[in-house]
Amino acid sequence: MKDLKSYIRTIPDFPKDGIMFRDVTTLFANPASFKHTVDALVTAFKNDRIQKVAGIEARGFILGGAVAHRLGAGFVPIRKVGKLPHQTIEESYASEYGEAVLEMHMDAFGAGDRILLIDDLIATGGTAEAALALLERQGGDVVGCGFIVELPQLGGPGRLQARCERVVSLCTFKD
Ligand code: AMP
Repeated sequence: MKDLKSYIRTIPDFPKDGIMFRDVTTLFANPASFKHTVDALVTAFKNDRIQKVAGIEARGFILGGAVAHRLGAGFVPIRKVGKLPHQTIEESYASEYGEAVLEMHMDAFGAGDRILLIDDLIATGGTAEAALALLERQGGDVVGCGFIVELPQLGGPGRLQARCERVVSLCTFKD
């Protein structure tokens, strides 16, 4: 297989001017790169006795669902506001390209459950930090966070490391 980065398409100025959007739909569409990505995250966390994988809408659902299945864990959706039907808790946050609110069902897991948080990409870390806050507020033990892409110039992983033992990203885009 080629370098994982070569399966990710870059769209300049999406969703707004100045953002280099790293589009992982091309990586998901290729059987070899999708398999490699899921395998790499499963390998990184296979000895962590993960009970639930929490995925952030929407690309974190695609990846997190596959990783949860392979780890023998359940799946918890963390969604944009207004989508979940039962009682929720919410957190506001700022990401690389705007402000928003994330929600999670209050009864999504049991207190003390060992959780792996998954998203496609970490930029400033604002989104993942809000998801971590939701998981912690409900008593989750967030053992790790896994991403396909890290944008190191924005310092995201540093914001998570204080609260989560292991932050894994499979590749970086430096500009
Ligand atoms: P942040 O909160 O700044 O770490 O932003 C991460 C979230 O926004 C993830 O859910 C990403 O899917 C999305 N995102 C932020 N920046 C980009 C980018 N340059 N390319 C693709 N997705 C991005």
